[in-house]
Amino acid sequence: MPHSLDDVTRSIHSLWPLSGASDWDASGLVSGDPASPIESILLAVDAVSDTVDEAIEANADLLLSHHPLLLRGVTSIAEDRYKGALLSRLIRANCALLAAHTNADVVTDGVSDILASKIGLQDALPIEPGAASGTGIGRVGRLTEPTTVGQLARLVADLLPATASGIRVAGDYGARVETVALCGGAGDSLLAHPAVTGADAYITADLRHHPASEAREQVKITGSGPALLDVSHWASEWIWLDTAATQLREALPGVCVSVSELRTDPWDFVVMQ
Ligand SMILES: [Zn+2]
Repeated sequence: MPHSLDDVTRSIHSLWPLSGASDWDASGLVSGDPASPIESILLAVDAVSDTVDEAIEANADLLLSHHPLLLRGVTSIAEDRYKGALLSRLIRANCALLAAHTNADVVTDGVSDILASKIGLQDALPIEPGAASGTGIGRVGRLTEPTTVGQLARLVADLLPATASGIRVAGDYGARVETVALCGGAGDSLLAHPAVTGADAYITADLRHHPASEAREQVKITGSGPALLDVSHWASEWIWLDTAATQLREALPGVCVSVSELRTDPWDFVVMQ
């Protein structure tokens, strides 16, 4: 007997409980019949045309994306708009869509936790602890051996999949780094958090001019604070998908689980000056 979409949804929400999701989030089942059989699942960071095509061509029964396709209210899924077009294609192909977003960010072995362990942080703790022990937003921990900002950026560049924008750094190349704070995806809301201002480096994505500039100016006043490593949002989350796939294979024996290798980072190239 194949697993039903309802079984699969329950397994997903026991790995990444919806109670951990932020109140503004829209994780969970987006489309699909709970009674439909699920034999194969494709994991991707984004539900975009490339990953939807990939799921349909691979005959996947479920596309599990990290980012919710429908995060804010929509009043139409007409196919002259891309969200309607994607959903309609998925529905016609009998491929369900489910998002595991902030509920997958906060857990042990979630997005930030996996990034912390790949970087080699010891005793990493959540920056903003959640209700359940060991859960929460972001992670902060210590490297086993102190390094420099430049070497840390090299390490991060080597462990993340390649993207056009690489790693942007604010800070001295040779400055010492021992404590590292990080948040997979967009983490500028944590820039003033004591766990981040107390770290030697902060790794996150989508840093804009003002939050980054203000954080670096404050470092000049206080004499301490983190270098900023701005990485690709997609890349910082994509590296979690392998762990998620392994967990799903264990939870759902007999279901074929694969990870999309497609780069859905929106940036295609940079022109250096
Ligand atoms: Zn994200």
